[in-house]
Amino acid sequence: MRKTRFNGLGIVLFLVILTFLWAATAVSDEKQLLAAIDERAGSCRAVSQKILDYKELGQQEFKSCQLLMEELRKLGFKVEGDLKVPDDLIKGGVAKTAFRAELAGKGPGPTITIMLEYNALPNGHSCGHNLISTSGLLAAAGPAKLMKDTPGRLLIIGTPDEDRGSFDGGKISLLEGKHFDGTDMVLITHPGDVWSVDKELLAMKRATFVFKGKAAHAAAAPEQGINALDAAIQTFNGINALRQHLRQDVRIHGIIKKGGEAVNVVPALAEAEFAARAYPTVNIMFKIAPEGVALHADEMLKYTVPEAGWQATVQAAKAVALTAYDLLKNPAKEKKIQEKFRQLKAKEGK
Ligand SMILES: [Zn+2]
Repeated sequence: MRKTRFNGLGIVLFLVILTFLWAATAVSDEKQLLAAIDERAGSCRAVSQKILDYKELGQQEFKSCQLLMEELRKLGFKVEGDLKVPDDLIKGGVAKTAFRAELAGKGPGPTITIMLEYNALPNGHSCGHNLISTSGLLAAAGPAKLMKDTPGRLLIIGTPDEDRGSFDGGKISLLEGKHFDGTDMVLITHPGDVWSVDKELLAMKRATFVFKGKAAHAAAAPEQGINALDAAIQTFNGINALRQHLRQDVRIHGIIKKGGEAVNVVPALAEAEFAARAYPTVNIMFKIAPEGVALHADEMLKYTVPEAGWQATVQAAKAVALTAYDLLKNPAKEKKIQEKFRQLKAKEGK
């Protein structure tokens, strides 16, 4: 009887010690992860400055892409560039400025992916993608330090051409090229004028409409012409009428890219490009600018230089790193989140 009681107490004590040791290990893991990020913050800031200076447009981000691949190799990742994609999405079937980096952990487990963006706009890095790529790079440095004792794997995917994104050259081409296969969860950050973990962003799809008509002298023989520009304008009017019947979170916007060559010629060719946005996605927004400063505006340029936005970039990296590590260590939590996501989608009929 006495012996049994002692054994019971012994087991309880053993469990208490185990729990304590587990908690101590968890805390020390977290500290190691954050220390790894602090250690690399200086060199990543220099990477961010370089990407800012390169200001490479979509599909032209060769130097930024090479630089990020090199940094990921230093962290122990197996890196591959020139990713194969369907050739109707990117001419030639190769995303030359995309990359995929993988770091396997200890045994099977979840696959957590962090996405990096690095393209600039014509006015420079007014969308802050130099900070997105380096916050992702820094976030990778945290769990990378612990992967040898962590189940699962960490994937980093470099997604080019994110602002133009036209003709599915960005993430869509990589998704269709199966480079996200096996991923359980994808994490990404974006700078902006607020901190937010539940910002609803709209996924975007672009389309170009080409109208072909027949040229004729606009004054001497207009009856012989077929006006392609009129067809483009009718399309805009149709879309404007459609707006009344769209859900509040849907946006459609477009421009006329071609509308004729000379005023005295009936336009034989017109081209309009539209973007439709709907189906919210989720992203961590980190604040680098005062509220109200819009992304893509010239005014945003002074906040995307690393000196201005760096502290927030590091904080965002830490949040992503801790989340990625937590999901890798707790596959049950990750499954629960996926299940909740499926339920929400089903509720919305998606
Ligand atoms: Zn952006």
